[in-house]
Amino acid sequence: MDTLEEQKSSLAGKQLTRHEALDRRKRINRYKKILIWTCVIAILIPIVMCVFLLMKIHRLEKDIDNLLTMKESGQIVAQTDSAGGRYLVLAKDVDENERTTENITEKTTEGSTEEVTEIPSEVVTQPVTKDEYTGKRAYLTFDDGPSENTIPILDTLNRYNVPATFFVIGKMDEQSKKLYKEIVDRGSTIGLHSFSHQYGSLYASMENFSADLAKIHDLVKETTGKDIKLFRFPGGSATTTNTVDIREIIKYLNANGYRYVDWNVSSEDATGRNISADEMARMVISQSLSCNSAYILMHDAKGKESTVQSLPAIIEELQANGYKFCAIDETTDKLVQQVKASEVQ
Ligand code: ZN
Repeated sequence: MDTLEEQKSSLAGKQLTRHEALDRRKRINRYKKILIWTCVIAILIPIVMCVFLLMKIHRLEKDIDNLLTMKESGQIVAQTDSAGGRYLVLAKDVDENERTTENITEKTTEGSTEEVTEIPSEVVTQPVTKDEYTGKRAYLTFDDGPSENTIPILDTLNRYNVPATFFVIGKMDEQSKKLYKEIVDRGSTIGLHSFSHQYGSLYASMENFSADLAKIHDLVKETTGKDIKLFRFPGGSATTTNTVDIREIIKYLNANGYRYVDWNVSSEDATGRNISADEMARMVISQSLSCNSAYILMHDAKGKESTVQSLPAIIEELQANGYKFCAIDETTDKLVQQVKASEVQ
């Protein structure tokens, strides 16, 4: 009997062990599945995040390009607040500010009160005066040339007997070399606008910038005999795409006796949209009328025929409103600067 009982109990024990083994296998399989899914998720999440971030970077790059185009065309400008923070504002708003400040200045002078007026943040006044004229001034500036449009512009300027300033880039062909000299010979001034005009390489490092500046400086000196120390940043002094800090560049310019100038009026001839000569003239005139010193950004690059055609109306209308057309050089007493040279030591 005992033996039979023992046999029964041993059989039951064996069945239990098989059952446990089955359970264990099921548990192991479940753990395996959980482990595999954890691995898959751990791999998938970073991949999805990378794709998402890449798309975001791509979108931001596009935004930066758009902002740059808007800034070069004067639609937006960079400003520095009292705490030293930098931000972008619409050029229209800056013009409003400037107009208000200019009005206060005028009133203060007329009324001979002691009220101190803050100078607009983008205007730097330096104590160098060339002539006694104290009225309104218009400075026509043409960037990115010379090109086939330079001569028609010079012809118009000469017809009205007004000078302008040409911020030139580096061109090594014989025709362009003659044009640098022609600009100076026909009564206008030259400013340097970099040799390459390639944001990526120009602002990649201080070495790149100084080498590029030396190259355009020497080309202009060789072709015109002029030792030009007037500069305009591609994108303006508040440009932010550069890897090198623009303030380091400004320090370099200050240390090497350069002065630079931005603009407070834009013809919008670099925005990429097709603007008629009439529309361009209207925009330049209305913006200029709200500035005592209008620094007008235009371009004499290839394809800027509307710019050439807009000039007579601009010159006639601004002269009728009491503006004197002047050329900019290193001694111009008031230069529009979005980032002020005097603030960068
Ligand atoms: Zn330019």
